[in-house]
Amino acid sequence: MKKRVIILGSTGSIGRNTLAVLDGMRGEWDIVGLAAGSQWEPLAEQIERYRPEAVAISDEVHAGLLADRIGSDFEVFSGGDALSRLVEAVSCDCVVVAVVGSQGLAATLSAAKLGRRIALANKETLVVAGSLVLEAAASTGAELIPIDSEHSAVFQALHAGTRKELRTVYLTASGGPFRTLDASEMDAITIDEALEHPTWDMGPKITIDSATMMNKALEVVEARWLFDLEPDQIKVVIHPESVIHSIVEFCDGSMIAQLGAPDMRTPIQYALTYPARLPCPSTRLDLSQACQLNLHPPDEARFPALRLGYEAASRGGTAGAVLNAANEVAVELFRKKLIGFRDIARYAEAALSQHEFKKEPTLDDLLAADRWARQEVNRCSAC
Ligand code: MG
Repeated sequence: MKKRVIILGSTGSIGRNTLAVLDGMRGEWDIVGLAAGSQWEPLAEQIERYRPEAVAISDEVHAGLLADRIGSDFEVFSGGDALSRLVEAVSCDCVVVAVVGSQGLAATLSAAKLGRRIALANKETLVVAGSLVLEAAASTGAELIPIDSEHSAVFQALHAGTRKELRTVYLTASGGPFRTLDASEMDAITIDEALEHPTWDMGPKITIDSATMMNKALEVVEARWLFDLEPDQIKVVIHPESVIHSIVEFCDGSMIAQLGAPDMRTPIQYALTYPARLPCPSTRLDLSQACQLNLHPPDEARFPALRLGYEAASRGGTAGAVLNAANEVAVELFRKKLIGFRDIARYAEAALSQHEFKKEPTLDDLLAADRWARQEVNRCSAC
């Protein structure tokens, strides 16, 4: 029997790569749901090609344009809760969550409550509401398989031992384009410079997060929830080649790493087919050629965002929601050239230190913390 998959964020970088992976497994998977935020034309092309049972688009105006183009053969959900309504309406084996930012949260919770396998590319969901998502998944037995390359690597390496034997998780980081830049030059970084990533081809938000290393900060929080780690069990190591995707150290000193070319199709396919491995169209690492792998510790003075990730991971509660929301707004302001590169971490830090912290928040508390942080960063930037 064919497996059924819904892809949330199908027009983005991870979504398109997911479709490419599924193209290689035709006959085994039915794409039963597709969803995008506002890119209705690429979504319409995907719908015509893959003919899902239902689709979702958050933007109401674009939903009308989409419905006109694709006709009445497909159910179209629109509005702020479109993604979760799609997940609830269409039965499936796996939901790929590849939307950007905290908009993936409600749909991920819906998928967890329905016991679906969640192939999770959206780290913000766990950063904002890790405890709620894990709780919902535990109550139904929903599997949460990471697509984020570092977390996929950790997930794979953890199979080499037991949880009791685990000592440390090393998340590798490319260090982004400014890894060797002097701190004094960082104020002058432009948006175009921040959008040039040396090894990974990704969307604009995550590329800027990589440049500030906020991406790694969010990944520390993500790892804390995914693998139930203490923050001091998580270390970040700079690895400019992006070939070692992460390393797990066990109590006997053995370190197990997962390596491969920097190509998201491998972790995407693994999240779909786990525990099986199948041939994948991803780029191969050619070890018949000489290859140098460098590893060194990160410079936290130049990348203050990193420290904020550890703070959010150890405080838990509403801290992750505030860090994530403040960062999302600050990245938008930077993209609009309204604030400087180093202001992104400054605003995030200010929001984190000033917010009214709650240790055991409900979903409403988390959404309120998210709204407060967005307003706060907008207010501060207008001062
Ligand atoms: Mg990553």
